[in-house]
Amino acid sequence: MNDTILSLDRKYVWHPFTQEQTSPPPIVAIGGEFAKIFTQDGRELVDMISSWWVNLHGHCNKVIANAIAKQASILEQVIFADFTHQPAVMLATKLAHLLPKDLSRVFYSDNGSTAVEVALKIALQYFSNSGDYSRNHLIAFDGGYHGDTVGAMSLGKSSGYFRAWENLLFSVEMVPYPATWINDDAIAEKEEASLVALSKALDVNKVAAVIIEPLIQGAGGMRMCRPEFLKNVAKLVHDAGALLVFDEVMTGFGRTGALFACLKSAVVPDIICLSKGLTGGFLPMGATVIKESIYQAFLGDNLHHAFLHGHSYTANPLGCVAGLASLDLLLSKDCQFRISNIETICRNRIKALLDSRKILNLRLTGTVVAFDLRDNITAERFRKMFLDNGFLIRPLGSVIYFIPPYCIDQYDLNRAWDILEEILGLRNCI
Ligand SMILES: *Cc1c(COP(=O)(O)O)cnc(C)c1O
Repeated sequence: MNDTILSLDRKYVWHPFTQEQTSPPPIVAIGGEFAKIFTQDGRELVDMISSWWVNLHGHCNKVIANAIAKQASILEQVIFADFTHQPAVMLATKLAHLLPKDLSRVFYSDNGSTAVEVALKIALQYFSNSGDYSRNHLIAFDGGYHGDTVGAMSLGKSSGYFRAWENLLFSVEMVPYPATWINDDAIAEKEEASLVALSKALDVNKVAAVIIEPLIQGAGGMRMCRPEFLKNVAKLVHDAGALLVFDEVMTGFGRTGALFACLKSAVVPDIICLSKGLTGGFLPMGATVIKESIYQAFLGDNLHHAFLHGHSYTANPLGCVAGLASLDLLLSKDCQFRISNIETICRNRIKALLDSRKILNLRLTGTVVAFDLRDNITAERFRKMFLDNGFLIRPLGSVIYFIPPYCIDQYDLNRAWDILEEILGLRNCI
């Protein structure tokens, strides 16, 4: 059966972000429980990357699984134009209550990329609806990643992933991002350079929106910045009359140690994009949450002022109940404790790495920890050593990072650090 699945995979399936010719064959997953993935060849892998950053409460979490199963036999899907339903309304209500007060209108979509496209389109139409047609420029940060659709790619151009489609991408002003690490002695200069560039870019053109991944740039290499920097960004953006969009697709739902990065940094953006952890990692879904004052500009007596955008599966009821169940779990004392415990353990364990000459730029925010490898050690070797020891990591270029599900066992988390120390030559007992 293992052979059959793999050979059929090799013949009929095309995997994302993978060079299919040189990558090892995919691992056949047959199940999961808590932080572990079970493979067809009898291994148990600790999922140190939360299955691409989506999983919060573990694989096959019973509470979420049951909520979905129950909803599937009540109402599985219904058109969301002209209709509404309890799961969508309750999830929107809950999100609005958890986010800063003014962010209270929820527009549902299918994934992180669409949550970003929706934010862009709303920002641009907000100004055209208000009669300001010239305010149509966008600003993003170097190294940012906002998804794979054309608008999101335009914002994330500097990631280097999108060369094949460069002539499709529209122009976005890019500003340096002050990637910051522990014991970084250039923080002030980096932040200043970034703010000066942002301020200049806001001066030159009439800008509709500035988009940033707050506190952590994910796919760009887990590059972190300080809350203070975000406060200064917000001030410049708002003084220039532009909208501030927080792409919290990765940082949302507890990842930074707070419920959302905007809460941790005490900055209120105008639009916030959510996905990944929204359903606890069970179903694809996105949500763009918008300030009520922006929503008001879309009201009128004609369709042209309306937001003419939607997806077939908008507000899918199964996704919404998964989201509600996941939020309940996230807000529980147990989960909040686990989140802070992951940070405590990692904060303790990085101390041993701080003096290692093999790595650079150690950084940690909430449940995310990362560092860069000096180039003489390959990231692929790290990945393989972890895999051989039963742990799944997926380096981003030369960046090694952990972003575990909140339910991870302390023993497993500490063991991941033991393996890391072993590979770096800081211990020899694995
Ligand atoms: C993953 C990610 C996206 C894209 O989400 P998809 O669901 O993969 O389309 C957008 N923004 C950020 C910050 C992300 O991490």
